[in-house]
Amino acid sequence: MRRRRPLLHEAALLLAGTSALRHLERIGWNPFRSPDAASGRMGEMSEIDGTGTERTTCVLAPNPSMMTLDGTNTWIIAEPGAAEVVVVDPGPNDGVHLRRIADTVKEQGRRVGAILITHRHPDHSEGAGEFARLTGAGVRAVDPAHRHGAEGLADGDVITTGGLELRVVAVPGHTDDSVAFWLPADRALLTGDTVLGRGTPVLDGSLGDYLRTLERLRDLVAAEEIGTMLPGHGPLLADPAGTIDYYIRHRRERLAQVRKAVAAGATTAGEVVAHVYGDIDRKLWPIAEWTVQAQLDYLAERD
Ligand SMILES: [Zn+2]
Repeated sequence: MRRRRPLLHEAALLLAGTSALRHLERIGWNPFRSPDAASGRMGEMSEIDGTGTERTTCVLAPNPSMMTLDGTNTWIIAEPGAAEVVVVDPGPNDGVHLRRIADTVKEQGRRVGAILITHRHPDHSEGAGEFARLTGAGVRAVDPAHRHGAEGLADGDVITTGGLELRVVAVPGHTDDSVAFWLPADRALLTGDTVLGRGTPVLDGSLGDYLRTLERLRDLVAAEEIGTMLPGHGPLLADPAGTIDYYIRHRRERLAQVRKAVAAGATTAGEVVAHVYGDIDRKLWPIAEWTVQAQLDYLAERD
């Protein structure tokens, strides 16, 4: 059973500390605790939780909302027969969820060898410190503020915990610290919030970076015949090339709409949102402004 598409088509994310989020708090509306999004929760959980590829398993965090879709996907990755696993994005600091990840690994007769973070947003990273304490494993992240007793992550790094081959691909755009993890043995790519299981992400980084990232992922998917994308939110994607082509098309269409709004006299992100996203709930306009600001910056750089 599929829930209807999120109100804001650029669906997803949460950015603690941004002006848009503070605005939402001021008006008393929390998109991360939306009763509307929570209503379909059990059906969606049974759909995504426990899915994966031969080497990957999703443990869905209980934080569904308009901004996080069904909740955050925590990924457990293990080579067949290996004693150690890699955990990607422990998710929010929710004790029940963190214990559930640890128990799932234990039931497999394994232990956690490494914890990785796809990007700094709290719905992916907030529980990492507590999960590190719970399991004794270190946390690797691009952003030094999110590392715990372990080194960083950089493009081209290869993670070999438990005999895995997990390749780090820098994918700036959603945030400037976003990375994807490529698992060649499963022809799978863990995409964080760069590519979502439904809709497209809000941009908290640069649109120029994001478009270059999409082109790079399209090339990687084609060259390596990647057959599955495992997103940070929403269900597995079985048509990576088609999804990325759609993302590129969608971004170009939105950019054309923004150009048109500017030509029609819109000067601020808020005015552009009123033109381009005039049909969505006004409460969501501050969120749409993040993406519009990235689009305006992109156009300004090129003029
Ligand atoms: Zn994010």
